Amino acid sequence: MLRGMTPTSSWRAVPKTGLVIAIDGPAGAGKSTLAAALARRFRLPYLNTGLMYRALAAAALADRIDPEDGTALAARARSIRFALGSGEVPELLIDGRSPGRSLSAGEVEAVVSRVAGHPAVRAVMRAEQRSLGASGSVMEGRDIGTVVFPDAEVKFFLSALPSVRAGRRRRERGGVRAAGEAVAHRDALDARTNPPRPAPDAIVLDTTALGSAEVLARAVEVVESAGNRGGR
Ligand code: C5P
Repeated sequence: MLRGMTPTSSWRAVPKTGLVIAIDGPAGAGKSTLAAALARRFRLPYLNTGLMYRALAAAALADRIDPEDGTALAARARSIRFALGSGEVPELLIDGRSPGRSLSAGEVEAVVSRVAGHPAVRAVMRAEQRSLGASGSVMEGRDIGTVVFPDAEVKFFLSALPSVRAGRRRRERGGVRAAGEAVAHRDALDARTNPPRPAPDAIVLDTTALGSAEVLARAVEVVESAGNRGGR
């Protein structure tokens, strides 16, 4: 966060100076695959904001912070250093390191929605996200097009049938059935914080019956036509 700014009042004040592509949607809709591919294609930093909430959830578990204690969680969130790495497609660094696989653990997923539900936590995260992404980025999450970057040039909202999303998550986690079942539980909790609705100007892509190459091809067309209209 920019030093000297209070998280609640001024995070929107960080001016956007580069192309921002916002990708929102529920777990298993294909956000990460599309976001990473678009970032490579347009040589933009790739920011997965779910990892930021997961990192805080993991820190809360390690430090035994009560997932209901929004004040303590917001303080812990402020102590995490979020930054962008280097290279052609910079990605999120958490305390100077690439996020590890441990952030996908079931224990983290079991508490992340509760951790992310506190307004004080979200204020810290949004300020970080705005300042990390404002000079150009592909940013994925749940409230990017609606709240963090309502001024993004291009917004996508990915959806897919719940059974398809659960199946994808189960496969990603090596066939663990509980991983698929946990998606529905997380959906329900996440919907209380961020209603799963697209921003009015978002392009909705239903990925139920689409392969990742098809989703990417459609998204590239949208980004390029936004560029031709002067959106970049
Ligand atoms: O995207 P991913 O599934 O990794 O996100 C993990 C969790 O982080 C979500 O279930 C949600 O609780 C939270 N999240 C959020 N807002 C975002 C991104 C993620 O509340 N922008």
